[in-house]
Amino acid sequence: MSKKVAILPGDGIGTEVVAEAERVLARLNDKYTLGIETESALVGGHAYDEHGSPLPDSTLDLAKNADAILLGAVGGPKWEPLDYSVRPERALLGLRAELDLYANLRPAKIYPALVSASSLKREVVEGIDIMVVRELVGGIYFGEPKGVETLPDGTEKGVNSLVYTTPEIERIAKVAFDVARKRGKKVCSVDKANVLESTELWRRVVTLMHKDHEEIELSHMYVDNCAMQLIRWPKQFDVIVTTNLFGDILSDAAAMLTGSIGMLPSASLSGNKGMFEPVHGSAPDIAGQNKANPIATILSVAMMLQYTFGAMSAAGEVERAVSEVLEQGYRTPDIHTEGMNLIGTKEMGDKIIEAIG
Ligand code: NAD
Repeated sequence: MSKKVAILPGDGIGTEVVAEAERVLARLNDKYTLGIETESALVGGHAYDEHGSPLPDSTLDLAKNADAILLGAVGGPKWEPLDYSVRPERALLGLRAELDLYANLRPAKIYPALVSASSLKREVVEGIDIMVVRELVGGIYFGEPKGVETLPDGTEKGVNSLVYTTPEIERIAKVAFDVARKRGKKVCSVDKANVLESTELWRRVVTLMHKDHEEIELSHMYVDNCAMQLIRWPKQFDVIVTTNLFGDILSDAAAMLTGSIGMLPSASLSGNKGMFEPVHGSAPDIAGQNKANPIATILSVAMMLQYTFGAMSAAGEVERAVSEVLEQGYRTPDIHTEGMNLIGTKEMGDKIIEAIG
């Protein structure tokens, strides 16, 4: 069976961090004879420059025909004046929608060596291991009606609609229960059921789905309380499942508990197929300077090996190698603290490959 990975580096530091992740993937491919083939294509601003579209048909076809996609990041000041319809960021929405990547998994895990890089106290963050499961192709980002219209009196009205159907909630709840089964066996479903009818439906459907997953402990929380609890006592959470909008915000908050955005991978799944990418953007402020932390993208490769290819040993090896390199004191600038060994993007890639052996 062929195993194909589409490599879409994108713009800015996307190209730098993906280069390191690709080297890590190649090393694991050899070491574990995974039989993975890769093919690269342009996406985002560079694709617009070359083809007049941030998501050319050839790139979309490659993504559709691959088992997994490894994406860097898109966007940058050069393309900001462009019309929204061809902005680099449209490529992400296009890929998510076209491939129906409905489940976004964002782990927020703290590495012992980085506890001091968090803005919260050691005792609050030590041992954090949270997985945010965010619904990615529905909710208020896609619901109709939407838009801005001018009313007869000349004032304007802006509308977005928070729409969820039973099947959409069922499939994301199932992902959350399945993920929890392999972790701490706890799911906290986050909604605003006291105010928003569509999330009242969300709570009802998640509760019904729980009947098939009774070995998992299910709790419900309002989103405002969840935001507070994430800062107050994040260790209470194992898996958080929530809507597109709430997940967007809560996963960023959860992410920052762990130190740097440069450490955070993500997976967007539709069954086994998925797109794997760092949480961060193209970081124009440090692009081309060998300063970007490639670990988020390298850990995204680990998620790909786990979720798409079921290569658990190879995935575990990446996490172990990252831990080892951090324990040895190597740091890119974003996670650097006094007394540690400051290195660049490429050198971090080298060290991780060395640790894989
Ligand atoms: P950003 O994530 O690119 O950068 C935010 C800050 O974090 C910057 O100071 C940056 O230097 C730092 N940073 C990010 N990744 C880092 C890494 N790996 N190592 C070290 N430091 C890192 O967010 P932004 O500045 O708001 O956006 C820049 C561009 O990226 C914009 O065009 C935006 O639209 C785009 N963007 C793309 C994605 C994506 O492709 N998934 C996500 C977010 C933003």
